[in-house]
Amino acid sequence: MKKDAKTFHEVAERCTRFSPIEECKNCGCSNSTSSGENVSCKSCRHYEPDKVCTLDLYKEIVTNHNL
Ligand code: SF4
Repeated sequence: MKKDAKTFHEVAERCTRFSPIEECKNCGCSNSTSSGENVSCKSCRHYEPDKVCTLDLYKEIVTNHNL
């Protein structure tokens, strides 16, 4: 199963449970827009390094969409 930045992004875009960690909210940097680059499993609350998704959705979305 692929685990690269592109796939993390494509999965998160299709995921109904994507829940971004909003670390950047008050830091004043220009990365605070909620869409685009930051849409990634890596910036999701449900991300977990070993299996990617604590909800087990990653594998399912990758399979269903042939990512
Ligand atoms: S980590 Fe899981 S819940 Fe979060 S966007 Fe990825 S597949 Fe969806």
